[in-house]
Amino acid sequence: MKIHEYQAKAILAKYDVPIPRGQVASTADEAVTIAAEIGSWPVVIKAQVHVGGRGKAGGVKLANSAEEVRQHAGAILGMDIKGITVRKVLVEPGIDIKHEIYLGIILDRITKAPVIMASAEGGVEIEEVAKTNPEKILKLVVPPTYGLRGHHSIIAADFLDIPADARKTFKKVLDGLVAAFIDNDCSLAEINPLVLTGSGHVIACDAKMNFDDNALPWHPELAELRDDGEEDPLEVEARQKSLNYVRLDGRIGCIVNGAGLAMGTMDVVKHFGGTPANFLDIGGGAKAEQVAEALNLITSDPNVDVIFFNIFGGIVRCDIVAQGVLDALKSLPDFDYPIVMRLSGTNDEQARKMLTDSPIHIAATMAEGAQLAVKLSEEKRTAGV
Ligand code: GDP
Ligand code: MN
Repeated sequence: MKIHEYQAKAILAKYDVPIPRGQVASTADEAVTIAAEIGSWPVVIKAQVHVGGRGKAGGVKLANSAEEVRQHAGAILGMDIKGITVRKVLVEPGIDIKHEIYLGIILDRITKAPVIMASAEGGVEIEEVAKTNPEKILKLVVPPTYGLRGHHSIIAADFLDIPADARKTFKKVLDGLVAAFIDNDCSLAEINPLVLTGSGHVIACDAKMNFDDNALPWHPELAELRDDGEEDPLEVEARQKSLNYVRLDGRIGCIVNGAGLAMGTMDVVKHFGGTPANFLDIGGGAKAEQVAEALNLITSDPNVDVIFFNIFGGIVRCDIVAQGVLDALKSLPDFDYPIVMRLSGTNDEQARKMLTDSPIHIAATMAEGAQLAVKLSEEKRTAGV
């Protein structure tokens, strides 16, 4: 789960990370009021969307008067940044930037530990620095056994050339960022840029936090920060219906039981020249209602040509899934997408018999099913429907 900059800053502030004291506005008038309360110039107006690179896209502007605040806030609100409409802006006291640092922490799959990343080349996208000047990024493993220690911050401060009088605050920022990352089960927490100001202060100019969705049940207070307006509407709907769905950009809708099999199905579809439209794990859920919801969800995506069910009957019985699909189709009289179904495992023969009089195409193997789904999708394309 992603959150907005202003929300990430509020969390970091609780961990003693210095942040500019701003507020969020959803109209230009509100932005003007907040700027007046700040009472100093310039103020900065920042688009709140779940994507990076807002600065480059024109979503971050400095304002030196109430009139400029109105003008910039008016322009940024409603702006489209990488496909997301800006509905809120953060208004903060402007920072006198002397130097921009990158400071982040991610969960690294290779070392299986949180890894701090730091670079004096802050402000720009760190992926760019990693490509062009990887030696300018310091990586420090935080061993889960003993956590962050004093030497981490000394090594990072040396690497970044932090002046002596700013080191105490820098340590506070690093301690706060790492603690916030661990306490909240983040997959990423970053401050880009962390700013050294003209007067020698250290302050977080931007903040980003991503959370591990699987840990959210432990953090009910975080789930409240979710902004459905920033996400794919089909994924939001799927979550509300407890369906494990991720939208992709292909043409073959996949309904599968089990996450591993779902991944495998996508690979096989690709292997035979098709493109999966989604990941969807219905798990053991084979009730007609659930299958109907899954079919409705997948076919709300206009790219979808055909549905491919790939079911392995282990704990869930194939005949129960077959019945669920038949019942679901009965409840959707207008459903006219071709369906390919591969059923293997417990009671598969019985299940296939149940489907013989239905319009569903039965495939003997996963490969055969994928090939047939790809063929039906291509036929639909050439027929221009
Ligand atoms: P991002 O582009 O989405 O990462 O948004 P940031 O919050 O990082 O802002 C982008 C850039 O705008 C920063 O790297 C700064 O150079 C600049 N910027 C942001 N806030 C201020 C500010 O208060 N004062 C000044 N002078 N520049 C700012
Ligand atoms: Mn940034």
